Order: sequence, then C-alpha cells, then structure tokens
Amino acid sequence: MPQQGPPPVVRQLPTDEARFLLDLTRDLARREIAPAAGDEEEAGRFPRETFALIGASGLLGLPYPEEYGGGGQPYEVYLQVLEELAAARLTVGLGVSVHTLASHAVATFGSKQQRADHLPAMLGGDLLGAYCLSEPTSGSDAASLRTKAVRHGDTWTIDGTKAWITHGGVADFYTVLARSGGEGAHGISAYLVPGDAPGLSAGPPERKMGMKGSPTAQMHFDGVEVSDDRRIGEEGQGFAIALAALDAGRLGIAACAIGVAQAALDAAVGYMGQRRQFGRPIADFQGLRFMLADMASRVEAGRALYLTAARLRDAGEEFSAHAAMAKLFCTDSAMQVATDAVQLLGGYGYTADFPVERYMREAKVLQIVEGTNQIQRLVIARHLVGPEIHD
Ligand SMILES: Cc1cc2nc3c(=O)[nH]c(=O)nc-3n(C[C@H](O)[C@H](O)[C@H](O)COP(=O)(O)OP(=O)(O)OC[C@H]3O[C@@H](n4cnc5c(N)ncnc54)[C@H](O)[C@@H]3O)c2cc1C
Repeated sequence: MPQQGPPPVVRQLPTDEARFLLDLTRDLARREIAPAAGDEEEAGRFPRETFALIGASGLLGLPYPEEYGGGGQPYEVYLQVLEELAAARLTVGLGVSVHTLASHAVATFGSKQQRADHLPAMLGGDLLGAYCLSEPTSGSDAASLRTKAVRHGDTWTIDGTKAWITHGGVADFYTVLARSGGEGAHGISAYLVPGDAPGLSAGPPERKMGMKGSPTAQMHFDGVEVSDDRRIGEEGQGFAIALAALDAGRLGIAACAIGVAQAALDAAVGYMGQRRQFGRPIADFQGLRFMLADMASRVEAGRALYLTAARLRDAGEEFSAHAAMAKLFCTDSAMQVATDAVQLLGGYGYTADFPVERYMREAKVLQIVEGTNQIQRLVIARHLVGPEIHD
C-alpha cells in the first residue's frame, strides 16, 4: 500500500491573524531553520542570526502587549508557533521559549517605567534573553538559592554562580533571582542584568547529550552592580515572580515537546512507506501500525492538553495544575514517541543519517528542564490533596 506521507497537522486557530502567523512560521521553519538543523546541531553551532530573523518577523514577543512591541497574541497561538519552531529545530523553539520566560518578569511585574524602558528592545528581536534561577547546589529546591544581592543606596551588588543557563554567554540580558534577604522563598528578589555588565562572565559551555547548538553555561556574578531601577517587583517578591514565569514557561516546554514528537512521528510515517522487508512495505505490519497509532494518539492528546491549559490562561483562569500536567504528559510523550520512532527505523534510526536519534536525545532534556517531571507530579498532587506535611 503506497504511503502518501504524514497528514498535515489540524490546527484550531482563533483568528485570521493567527492563521497568518502560523503560515509565516511554517514557511520560515521549512526554508530557514529545518534544512541546517541536523548539521548545525552536530557542529554545536548556535544560530544567533535565526533569532534575529524570528524577531524581525515579529515572532519573538508574541504573547506580550503590542504597545511594547509584542504581538498581542493569546497563549494558544504563541504555543502553536513555538511547536512549529521546535519541530524544525528544538534549539530554536526552546530558545524562543526561554527568551519569553526571561521577558516575563519585566512584562508582568515591572513598573510602567521599566516596561517602557526595556520591553520594546526585548520584544523587538534585537536582544536575546536568559533566565537565571538554577544554581550548582539548588535545582529542584530552587528556593534555597545562594546568589547574594546586597544593597548600597541605589545600587545592588550581585555575587554568586548560576548553573545550566540556556543562552549563557550569548544573551543580551539576564533575568536573575538572587537572595536579598533572609533564608527561604521570601528572601529572594528579581533583577534585570545587562549581558555586558562588568563582573558578569560565562563558564565553558556544558557538553550535553543533545541540543548541542544551544549554549548552556554557568554564569558567574562577581560584584556585578545593578541600579535599583533594574530590580523587578518588590524586594522579597522574586520567588513568586520566578514561579509565575515558570507556570507559563512550562507550557512553552510542553509545546516544544509536541513539536519534537510530531517531527519524530512524521519521520516514522515517511520511512514506513518506503522501507520494504519480507516483500512488502514495513507499513503493512500490524505491530508497527499499532505503534504508529499510539504515537499519533499521544501527539494529539498532548497538543489538546497544552491548548486546554493555554486557553485557561488566556481566559484569566487558574492554570497552574494544567500547565504541570501538560509539561509532564507532553514531555513524557515526546520521549516515548521519539524512542518508538528510532525503533521503527531499525538500524537506520540509530544513525545520524536520519533525524530520529536527535529527536530522542532532544526529548530527554524536556523531561528535566523547568521543573523535572517528578516536580510536576508534586505540583499536580498538591492541587489534588494539598501540600505535603513534613514532621
Ligand atoms: C539543557 C538544560 C538547560 C537548562 N536551562 C536552564 C535555564 O535557562 N535557567 C535555569 O535556571 N535553569 C536551567 N536548567 C536547570 C534545570 O531547570 C534543572 O536541571 C532542573 O530544575 C533540575 O535540577 P537539578 O539538575 O539540580 O536536579 P536535582 O534537583 O538535583 O534533582 C535530581 C533528581 O532528584 C529528583 N528530585 C528532586 N527533588 C525531588 C522531590 N522533592 N521529590 C521527588 N524527586 C525529586 C529530580 O526529579 C531528579 O530526578 C537547565 C537544565 C538543562 C539540563
């Protein structure tokens, strides 16, 4: 039975403008991002110029207000754009998601003046952002972070080390969570640090399993001075700001995961129509057809779940539990679908001649970043039965 290739993704979009944005993204992804993705990932090359192009196309600040240079789009549209970018290359999709996360503090908690001063450049595509929460000794337990911020009049001095920072060393601005007060979550404040601030330096890039084109590095703060007008929100409000950004950011990771899963599914469908064994296409074997059906069902279910969470957010409803469910389900699904795609391609799936081994390596990181999937389960369970009681 001849295969016609994978059917196009069915998208529910609220407006004609949204449809235009999705078409624009698909075109850009197909022409400018996907063709070089495999080679550039292997070479560990960060595509800075692609982010400039995405910014110039108006796709770098989609969920933020138009009056500050954003796209004024609902989250359900922004996330579907992200999915398309991630399907072409995760380094790009995740990069846009991280940039959006880094812009969240100023956009949501910044004063009117701060928004007017910083957002147009952040959202216009000229600047690329990074988000600095994790540290070498505080990952899941982020509220125990140690980077210090000490006030001297109108200036803060920041000292410490941030770990695992996506765009570390290449970003133009860093949204930084640092301890300005006592122990625990209430002693943390948020700061907007320029990439060229004296005393700020990047460690060597981490040598990762995948996403080699996306620089991940420690960031060292050695007496970095920022003026008080770069403190975002109230003193001590930093952790609440970080968590609010992560709720939205997790949806970005979920959408990226479905992008990777869709790409893996498409590759598997395409291959199964071509490859022949025992005198017929392997697409004829029921065991493989059932695998494919499960993969496609996971992709559609994941897309529906992240869109449900996004629509709750767009409606101003509580969406934190749904964001955690979407992050958990979509990233676990991406891992499963990408692993199955490798299996469906047999030995060829295990080589760099086909993209599915890359998708499998990329899917893994999505189960770890922005709250591991164990942490997502904790969040979901807290919504169901309340916080854990410690002795
Ligand atoms: C490629 C990459 C990019 C990243 N980018 C960024 C970034 O831009 N900015 C940033 O701030 N951070 C970033 N991170 C950091 C990421 O968010 C952390 O790695 C993640 O939060 C986990 O922290 P950890 O690595 O210290 O693991 P740990 O917190 O040490 O966890 C180790 C294991 O214990 C489990 N665990 C921990 N606590 C519990 C618990 N209470 N119950 C059950 N299980 C638990 C975890 O799930 C995990 O399996 C990035 C990480 C990677 C790998």
